[in-house]
Amino acid sequence: MNCTNNATVTQPYNVVNMNLDGCLVIPSNLEGFRQDITKDAVVIPKVVDNTIVSSVTRVYGDIIDTDTDVCPHCGAKLYSNGSYDTVLKHLPLGQTSLSVVVTRKRKRCTCCGKSFVKEIPFKAEKHNITETLKKYIEKLLTMAMTLKAISDITGVDEHIIKAIDNNRLEDEETELDENGNRRLKKPTEYAKYIAVDEFKLNNEYRYATVIIDLETGYILYFGRSKKKVVIEEFMKLVGDDWMNHVEALACDMNADFSEAFQAKYPHIDVVYDRFHIRKNFNDMVIGPVRKDVQRQLIREKKYEEAASLKRCNHILCSSKATRMAIEAEAKERKENGNQPKSMSLFCAPPIEVKGGIEQRYQDIIESNKLFFVMDIIKDQLDVAYRSETVEEMSKHIGQIIALCHGTNNDHFKRFAKLLGNHYEGVINFGKHHITSGKIKGTNNLIKNIRRMGYGYPDEEYFFLKAKDLSRQNKLRSHKKLH
Ligand SMILES: [Zn+2]
Repeated sequence: MNCTNNATVTQPYNVVNMNLDGCLVIPSNLEGFRQDITKDAVVIPKVVDNTIVSSVTRVYGDIIDTDTDVCPHCGAKLYSNGSYDTVLKHLPLGQTSLSVVVTRKRKRCTCCGKSFVKEIPFKAEKHNITETLKKYIEKLLTMAMTLKAISDITGVDEHIIKAIDNNRLEDEETELDENGNRRLKKPTEYAKYIAVDEFKLNNEYRYATVIIDLETGYILYFGRSKKKVVIEEFMKLVGDDWMNHVEALACDMNADFSEAFQAKYPHIDVVYDRFHIRKNFNDMVIGPVRKDVQRQLIREKKYEEAASLKRCNHILCSSKATRMAIEAEAKERKENGNQPKSMSLFCAPPIEVKGGIEQRYQDIIESNKLFFVMDIIKDQLDVAYRSETVEEMSKHIGQIIALCHGTNNDHFKRFAKLLGNHYEGVINFGKHHITSGKIKGTNNLIKNIRRMGYGYPDEEYFFLKAKDLSRQNKLRSHKKLH
């Protein structure tokens, strides 16, 4: 049960008697605040199940008043008409919350009868916290902390923290248009390379599109669908001048993003990403061909061989580097009595150390000509993506297309067709050497933010949050707009 025990009040120091033992006399950062040193600070412990879990220290004071006692409406004299207290949360002192109790004098006009209470100059707008505490919360918000964690540190309610964050993001990311409607601000820096990708929203069957600056990793734009219209809206936002500074775009071959960009800005080179091409090769060729070969073996009643092809997709798709890493781990485990290194505290049951993945891979590719060609194409793709020039890239991709046709297999031929249809974008790698690797980092960031509980159900807040966090702690090495 939660209960706050207000009765237990202790006085840590006694300023009335000027006994400042154990005190720090430091500036409060509250301009216009004057502490009333005739009143002792009060500590109010919060007790849960007879244990003090936290405490609030209250200090008392008022606002330094330099105003004249003249009514701003009629110029008549004002007289004092009582006072009341406003409690504001201030910066925490470690695990102790600090509140300032501000006594506010009410003044009344002798002539028109209007009442006046002075605004607290150090109070944050809309919330009963100090401006200093609000600034501190804003700082914590840029550090990718959850609302709950910030609430625990500052003692401020999560809803208030979210409201502060919303306002901050709105100020930073948006502006008012000529009709007074909020719109996103244009990027402040040009981007030479951009990347577009799509990701799933809230594990539903809906997709969103994200556009990033490929060099800085900054998120530039979000769209709530994967349609071309997202690209069109983005281009409208950034404008012609900005788009004219973009040299190349990295994206996936399957999407129609590239067409949307090139329709309006034909100078932009499209570069299809190596990882997307490898994924297409895995999905279009390796998987289906393996299944075909397996079926054929079953028809030929070679059951043992067919069984050995089961669940070997990962081996066939693996790169040489991955296979080497697996071999190395198996070797290490064998030498360590089947225990992984640095694993003595937690349970690590011995696994069957097979090793020999490289041997198995070699056996598979030698068992069938198609598997053998797959291996050559995988190697060729690696070589192609080390090309220095478009000509070199073009030569390697040409060889891959020829190899595919040489197999006379439909799956390979379909992959060759895909490369052919996107030929220019594939070989453009030789010119720009960009990959959309950074956008995978962005997708991870998006996943993390969702896990931190910022996302659901407020999508706009979630997008602004992701956009903001993509910029934090990153060096800006970019040319500024003039
Ligand atoms: Zn008056």
